[in-house]
Amino acid sequence: MALNIIVVGGGAAGFFAAIAAAEQGADVTILEKTSRVLEKVRISGGGRCNVTHACFEPRDFATRYPRGERALLSPFQKFSARDTVAWFEVHGVKLKTERDGRMFPTTDSSETIVHCLMDAAEKAGVNIRLNCAVESVSKLADGMFELSLAGMASEKIACDKLLLATGGCRAAAAGQLATSLGHTLVAPVPSLFTFQIEAPWLRSLAGVSLESAEVAVPAAKLRERGPLLVTHWGLSGPAVLKMSAWGARALHTLDYKFQLLVNWLPESNPEKIIVEFQKRREAAGAKLLVNVPLFPLTARLWEQLVLAAGIARETRWAAITRAQMHALVQQLTRTEFAVTGKSLNKDEFVTCGGVKLSEVNFKTLESKICPGLFFAGELLDIDGITGGFNFQAAWTTGLLRGRRWRLQFSDEPILYLLPRPRRFPQEGEAGFHRGVELKAADGNAPVHFAPAMALHQRVEDGFQRDSVQRIAGMRHGLGHDVQQRRVDGVLGNGKVVCESALNDEINLPVALSFAPGCRIMLSWTWTFPVSPRPSNRRCSTF
Ligand SMILES: Cc1cc2nc3c(=O)[nH]c(=O)nc-3n(C[C@H](O)[C@H](O)[C@H](O)COP(=O)(O)OP(=O)(O)OC[C@H]3O[C@@H](n4cnc5c(N)ncnc54)[C@H](O)[C@@H]3O)c2cc1C
Repeated sequence: MALNIIVVGGGAAGFFAAIAAAEQGADVTILEKTSRVLEKVRISGGGRCNVTHACFEPRDFATRYPRGERALLSPFQKFSARDTVAWFEVHGVKLKTERDGRMFPTTDSSETIVHCLMDAAEKAGVNIRLNCAVESVSKLADGMFELSLAGMASEKIACDKLLLATGGCRAAAAGQLATSLGHTLVAPVPSLFTFQIEAPWLRSLAGVSLESAEVAVPAAKLRERGPLLVTHWGLSGPAVLKMSAWGARALHTLDYKFQLLVNWLPESNPEKIIVEFQKRREAAGAKLLVNVPLFPLTARLWEQLVLAAGIARETRWAAITRAQMHALVQQLTRTEFAVTGKSLNKDEFVTCGGVKLSEVNFKTLESKICPGLFFAGELLDIDGITGGFNFQAAWTTGLLRGRRWRLQFSDEPILYLLPRPRRFPQEGEAGFHRGVELKAADGNAPVHFAPAMALHQRVEDGFQRDSVQRIAGMRHGLGHDVQQRRVDGVLGNGKVVCESALNDEINLPVALSFAPGCRIMLSWTWTFPVSPRPSNRRCSTF
């Protein structure tokens, strides 16, 4: 019997976990409370889905998580942004990198990602049930779980393993399934929000953006540098969003009311600015101050900063006083704003808080409190800054968990590279049959045959490292040229036909795992009718 797994939550993490688990032969069902799965993927990145970030060094990548950096380091070493790019490519979706490192599908449409995930889930045999909100869960004496669905009092669903991927807990109630099984929820507070500022002169600049500015909140000892955007309600842009993520708890404690300092010229300093003023006084003394902005400030922003410094619009460079110069420097490097609240950025919002990380084993994503219970995605107390980091955490935790369910058979799968026949028949040659047969020669020995994707992932995982090069050459082929027919679960004395479009560049890799302790014989035969001597080998495994 295949392992029966329920994934609660049809989001990014739930899908990656379910696909990977089903590819290992498990019987997987996703229960989704709404009428549509992958809704956040659909609306993400302004409809373009910022899938991940082009930062391929796991240690560096992990530093982008205000919560979860340490816990995610080892998972990222197993499945990084590079692996995400490869995963989507194998599934027919190419990603592109923007100047700031964010990665999107080349179609610039999140629907591409949604279709890809739906397709992969269908191919892997994942069952999806919509409008199924899991209301409560209990652990049975035999170690299984029993789930009750909202509004379906009579329907109870049992499973061997339970994976919770219900997303961020905006309200503590959203973490209730985890807490009912003994877990602690780190109190949820918002992350990735923008700052509400009433100053009319700032609001009049809505739409103005800067490549680089520095924002600081002295009361919380926070400082961030990056692009800044003036909005109709205050300030936004990566510098503000990053600050809201790193300072999510501190700013919550301040009830989102604090003094904000903005340095509009962070690449400069007061001394250099004064030198610039002197130059202008000499070279453009007759011109109005407001008409000669300092690079790289826009004319509108410069004018407002001059006025905010208390300098009259009619002032000419030649007439600027020492006191006015100092007031302007102050305004350029330390504009003070009173932040009166936060506004959720409609493009990106995550929750800081969730299932306490110390209660989860990050090698297996299994609960340390309730065996058989697993977690993935934003439900965990993990959140990243803006730029594709939140999805990457969902892909990584989901996939690593799903992939580990292969261990139901043996501790390590065996990888065979089936030898190529001496001569490859040409396309169109009479009787050409593409394929290879694989037989479990020993009675009813359970043999698990891994489909191509799972195999690909295992190789990526470091298994059989010496053959990685050769398999890597196949990467392309795995998705496109080589298609292995999916075989469900356990095989007895069965035969598997792997359909492949072989060419002489590749060997056909097959991953097999066996019930612990069993001794079996395998044989395989190349079945090319035109080949005079089919290769027929036997191999003793355990
Ligand atoms: C508007 C917006 C844009 C974003 N854009 C980006 C972006 O471009 N890049 C990026 O990296 N991150 C982005 N994020 C963050 C990212 O979407 C999330 O971090 C990510 O979706 C988390 O994935 P998840 O699978 O853990 O949770 P979710 O995607 O939230 O999925 C959880 C699922 O579980 C279901 N569920 C919850 N409770 C139950 C229950 N009891 N029973 C059954 N089902 C249940 C929910 O309905 C939901 O479908 C964005 C977020 C928002 C809100």
